[in-house]
Amino acid sequence: MTTTRPLDLLDVDALHSEEELAIRAVVRRMVDDHVRPNVADWYERGQVPVRDLAKEFAGVGLLGMHLTGYGCAGSSAVAYGLACLELEAGDSGVRSLVSVQGSLAMFAIWKYGSDEHKDRWLPGMAAGDHIGCFGLTEPDHGSDPASMATRARRDGDDWILDGTKMWITNAPVADVAVIWARTEAGVNGFVVPMDTPGVTAREVKHKLSLRASCTGEIVLDGVRLPADALLPDAKGLKAPLSCLTEARYGIVWGALGAARDSLHTALDYAGAREQFGRPIAGFQLTQAKFADAAVELQKGYLLAVHLGRRADAGVLKPEQVSVGKLNNVREALAIARQCRTILGANGISAEYPVMRHAANLETVLTYEGTSEIHQLVIGQKLTGLAAFG
Ligand code: FAD
Repeated sequence: MTTTRPLDLLDVDALHSEEELAIRAVVRRMVDDHVRPNVADWYERGQVPVRDLAKEFAGVGLLGMHLTGYGCAGSSAVAYGLACLELEAGDSGVRSLVSVQGSLAMFAIWKYGSDEHKDRWLPGMAAGDHIGCFGLTEPDHGSDPASMATRARRDGDDWILDGTKMWITNAPVADVAVIWARTEAGVNGFVVPMDTPGVTAREVKHKLSLRASCTGEIVLDGVRLPADALLPDAKGLKAPLSCLTEARYGIVWGALGAARDSLHTALDYAGAREQFGRPIAGFQLTQAKFADAAVELQKGYLLAVHLGRRADAGVLKPEQVSVGKLNNVREALAIARQCRTILGANGISAEYPVMRHAANLETVLTYEGTSEIHQLVIGQKLTGLAAFG
């Protein structure tokens, strides 16, 4: 954190307990020490040390942080949200590592797995020794996962999986994947060790967004799994969708981190940069940009805290998470773009984080349900009519 200027116009910190603020401070320091000094380089090279970061994050209890047992920290939803915000103030890709590990892969096993699955995988995943990924999206089926082409069929007691999963975060480095496939009974989840014969993972190259994140394709070619690879309690598409709700909740908070870092950077820059004989921060048009950005940032924060408190009370609904994801990512992207203009030509340089945040937020707008899909979720709630198909 470089600036001393306050962004907390509404004193929203007063909404937090001492414990929440202490957790936030730990994650902020860790991002300052381990992410900020290196992330521009990771981003430019398109390579991120996933395993090293996972061990660092595990050291402060960030992996599966909001889960209980199996070495997980059992934090509140609000504390988890604050951690996501601080991580994404470093980089959306770094936050994605934690989201996919904890909210998608670990949560799926924690919620729907057998005792054997949990004992086998969760302690190692919480410790950062095992990297997990979550394979739902396919090359031809993204927003409409119900149409997935990946199939699991019985062969005696075994399962045979065939299909391709695409855009899977952490796939090229993962030890284990939660793979969603169509069976005779509907959609089921499978715990697939990545070294199982027939599983191959290829890294997706040439990304112009989320470059400090490892993304891959998983090909499943006649993958033979024992009967107990099936997640016994995951029945139908609502199981993977419930995992997505967990991850989307983290994004509600995380996107605010990218926006906050963009605003901090622009404020610092505008205070020092002079044109026409005075700091550009003193121009009314610049201040209008700052005011609008700060107002949206604080409104988004209030929304995140509200959803977090509802999650901690056990009453958070998926469509409420859609409201948060739609609003906070859309506004964070607008803030990052606007802050980018304040940096002028320097705004397009990797020496400053703002363009990186803006580029990352293009992915965040798309994954975990596109903005349009969240609009449709909210539209269905308001009208009672589903407009997806
Ligand atoms: P499509 O579904 O083809 O959508 C294209 C456009 O059409 C979008 O604007 C969409 O909103 C719009 N559209 C689609 N249907 C409708 C409709 N009914 N009405 C109006 N508009 C519509 N997936 C995983 O399973 N695991 C991961 O770990 C993962 N990580 C990712 C990491 C990155 C970097 C990226 C970019 C993606 C990742 N994804 C992952 C995939 C992501 O969830 C999908 O990209 C997303 O669901 C959208 O699917 P799609 O890209 O196929 O777009």
